[in-house]
Amino acid sequence: MTDTPKKIIPLADIRYASRVPPIPAGLSAPTGLLSDTLGRPLRDLRISVTDRCNFRCNYCMPREVFDKDYAFLPQSSLLSFEEITRLAKIFVAHGVEKIRLTGGEPLLRKHLEVLIGMLAKLQTPAGKPLDITLTTNGSLLAKKARSLKDAGLQRVTVSLDALDDSIFRRMNDADFPVADVLQGLEVAREVGLAPVKVNMVVKRGTNDAEILPMARHFRNSGVVLRFIEYMDVGATNGWRMDEVLPSAQVIERLNAEFPLVAINPNYSGETAGRWRYADGAGEIGVISSVTQAFCGECNRARLSTEGKLFLCLFASQGHDLRALLRSNYADEQITAAIGPIWQARSDRYSELRAALPPDASPAGGTKRVEMSYIGG
Ligand code: SAM
Repeated sequence: MTDTPKKIIPLADIRYASRVPPIPAGLSAPTGLLSDTLGRPLRDLRISVTDRCNFRCNYCMPREVFDKDYAFLPQSSLLSFEEITRLAKIFVAHGVEKIRLTGGEPLLRKHLEVLIGMLAKLQTPAGKPLDITLTTNGSLLAKKARSLKDAGLQRVTVSLDALDDSIFRRMNDADFPVADVLQGLEVAREVGLAPVKVNMVVKRGTNDAEILPMARHFRNSGVVLRFIEYMDVGATNGWRMDEVLPSAQVIERLNAEFPLVAINPNYSGETAGRWRYADGAGEIGVISSVTQAFCGECNRARLSTEGKLFLCLFASQGHDLRALLRSNYADEQITAAIGPIWQARSDRYSELRAALPPDASPAGGTKRVEMSYIGG
């Protein structure tokens, strides 16, 4: 028998450092008005429902790392729908108004519509329904859009990096055809998961030639196309600054063919800069997390698939809420434990990175969480 060297991958549960939040001695009731050390409220909760994906986009889950030996989270580690809903309710009491389901690929999680139905029953303290949305690669959308809508999903964001089939297949590295994603998008629109947004990650030299074809395709369709700067998230994608195409250049290229007019954000904390076509053909957005960091407005908390709370997309340490859920604590105790975590938040990774030389990282040598683990 030959002794082939084996890659050792650490167990999923110890992949990222986390601490179990202490339960405060005095339990103060939530006010819905939490504010972190930079005065940022808590409004948006992103919940990752799986760390698995059927795509292997090189900028997110490179196949060399996420291969057949990769240790994805075991089923027993995942938060159940009841656990997710219990936490969501607590976050809503703390001020969350919007929930985005993500992953991995969220539509790979079985019976996701059941979770959506449970979340759709939650209300803000003022009695308003939550804004519930989902980010998907669109591969299973044609099949699932109707049941998602019926369960209470309001909108959907579809990730799509190219219209050219060969570029798209190369980028998803799963040989998945673009036509199937476009069909999913169409079904989502038909069932009323609207307005559908399309997110395109732009990598200079890989798919930037697709910016104009994408814009031409989605003009006059009601779909809001958003261009995302390729981010240095995680530790496996080999990110380099020279592969980032600044949003300013995206706008320049679009404006040369279709004059654009800047428009105001819909709400404070919106990630995308908004523009409309001067001829009335619709709206586009740019998400400039690298060249114009928007940490100052960040009101997002992120819950990983196995119940760790992260306060920043670029964090390297989480707060183990699952440990609280699986102890005998009452909701009041868990609620009281979460408040101080947000109040102590000072993360502003992208702003710090912007102040450093192009390829340096404020995280130094610490291992940042992967996008596929924490969700987009
Ligand atoms: N699988 C779902 C999807 O494709 O939308 C949800 C999870 S995915 C991690 C969420 C979003 O993150 C996608 O739009 C994806 O393109 C984006 N993303 C992943 N890695 C990125 C990176 N390095 N820079 C910018 N966006 C990234």
